[in-house]
Amino acid sequence: MFENNPNPARKPIMYYILIAAGIIMLLNAFVFPALLQRQVESVGYSDFLKMVDGGRVLEVQLDSSGEQLIFLGKDEAGNEAIYKTAVFPDDSLRARLESAGVTFSAQIATQNSPLLSFIISWILPIAMFTILGRVLVNQMTKKGGLNALSFGKSGAKIVASEETGVTFADVAGEEEAKDALKEIVDFLERPGKYASIGAKLPKGALLVGPPGTGKTLLAKAVAGEAKVPFFSISGSEFVEMFVGMGAAKVRDLFKQANEKAPCIVFIDEIDTIGKKRDTGAGFGGNDEREQTLNQLLTEMDGFDGKKGVVILAATNRPESLDPALLRPGRFDRRIPVELPDLQGREAILKVHAAHIRLAGDINMNEIARATSGASGAELANIVNEAALRAVREGRDTVRQEDLMESVETVIAGYQRKNAVLSEQERRIVSYHEIGHALVAAKQTNSAPVTKITIVPRTSGALGYTMQIDEEDHNLMSREELENKITTLTGGQAAEKLIFGSVTTGASNDIEKATKLARAMITRYGMSDQFGMVALETLNSQYLGQDTSLTCSAAYAEKIDDQVVALVGQAREKADRILRENEDKLHELAEYLLEKETITGEEFMKILNQPNLTV
Ligand code: ADP
Ligand code: MG
Ligand code: ZN
Repeated sequence: MFENNPNPARKPIMYYILIAAGIIMLLNAFVFPALLQRQVESVGYSDFLKMVDGGRVLEVQLDSSGEQLIFLGKDEAGNEAIYKTAVFPDDSLRARLESAGVTFSAQIATQNSPLLSFIISWILPIAMFTILGRVLVNQMTKKGGLNALSFGKSGAKIVASEETGVTFADVAGEEEAKDALKEIVDFLERPGKYASIGAKLPKGALLVGPPGTGKTLLAKAVAGEAKVPFFSISGSEFVEMFVGMGAAKVRDLFKQANEKAPCIVFIDEIDTIGKKRDTGAGFGGNDEREQTLNQLLTEMDGFDGKKGVVILAATNRPESLDPALLRPGRFDRRIPVELPDLQGREAILKVHAAHIRLAGDINMNEIARATSGASGAELANIVNEAALRAVREGRDTVRQEDLMESVETVIAGYQRKNAVLSEQERRIVSYHEIGHALVAAKQTNSAPVTKITIVPRTSGALGYTMQIDEEDHNLMSREELENKITTLTGGQAAEKLIFGSVTTGASNDIEKATKLARAMITRYGMSDQFGMVALETLNSQYLGQDTSLTCSAAYAEKIDDQVVALVGQAREKADRILRENEDKLHELAEYLLEKETITGEEFMKILNQPNLTV
């Protein structure tokens, strides 16, 4: 069962065997002798004599010290047992024993038969450990997809292309990524065409992009289009493995792939094994990952690119990958998979809505416009939530309102219908939300308000003002950003103006405003004092706002001052707008309080009609 090469996968098995042997030896030294020793009962000398006379003694023996007689006798019930008794100076004993027909024995076995004791002390424990080991390994196999008994059989999931059933038609948008992958599909379908001309296709391509943009889906689609087997394994699976198993798994994966060529090998979340090797190796722990990565590199270099094995990998943190992985002949082709734009979002919504019964008047464009920045996975989720909502309400088609509602569900958290707010709290929330909406509406260059609600969400938001841009925004001007900050401060500004004090309700607004202001100064070159100097850099291109400071402590202090000043100015502007429109603030807030949810049109209508004169 063991392979001949110095296989690291053998290590844990060797440990296991050593430990088992150790335990067996301990058992043999201390526990079994006691168990195997037959019970020896002490009897008094006179009882012994009685037993001799009664014919109940079969054999006697003087023990090695000469002070005790060991004898084999029968107990009252007639069962054989071993007894001992102290020797007494008794000259008549010999004659007495002879007359009773007792044999004088050289050795009365106080041990069980050697065969039995061998079975008990060796065979039984080994059998026990084998069974125990199998049970343990079986459990691990179930948990981690690991098959340790077939040393090195990676257990990589083999999904035949017929089963993936995914094609490029299932991936909406992402046209550039699809174009880049079409060449690979062609190569897999007709490898001969490339070989005859001497062209070598890249061995590996790396799909990079934020989570949920369809990287896994695209990889499956490549296999599905080319109708080749799809071997997939996730980087995170390696982490839970025995020492040495990661490398073995990689080796086995490539062995299987070579046999099944042409095929796709897909390594999802490659960053979990492919992190830069020099960083923070610390005390152990990373050895395993490093071994796995080295094995992967070795395999990639070793296999014949002409055979038609294409390795795809996906990651959302390409900057953290070990440069060795990106060298020519490895993952030298990088395919960006970006968040979908307006068109892409509409297409993705339609792909997922195709499986769902829709009412006649669905406007997917509106949904797509309301979901700027959403990933494909979130859009798929929105469509599903809408269907669930329709079912909950006992309808058999999905309506536009279901979709709009689930946009908020996915983006702002679930509506919490049963949260009870006091009347005063509802008033405050209402003024707060109208504060945002009014400030937004009174500024040019800010997205129109489409919906305002004071129905609480499970995410903790008690109210919500939705703004939707007319079209997709990729660039934002300094004015637009400033307006956005001003709009964010509008909520608390309204509370202060009307109730004379502020509540904790603005914490999320404050956080967002601060982040925006900070980014304007440190990353967008929008401050007059610093100009185009990068004071902070994004840690990851795809994973949000995670930044690190790249300036001195003295500058950090100045940045903080400027952030405070910028948000302060915005707040003053919001205060001014609200003071100038206090009548409308009251009118709109009372209206919202009554209706709980109002549309952008209702809002604009009230805002634009002449003031009610009292
Ligand atoms: P990633 O691997 O990039 O994190 P996935 O491929 O796992 O994302 O996508 C998760 C789900 O989101 C997919 O199964 C699919 O339902 C949906 N999805 C994501 N992007 C798209 C897209 N471009 N077109 C259609 N569905 C998509
Ligand atoms: Mg994925
Ligand atoms: Zn707010």
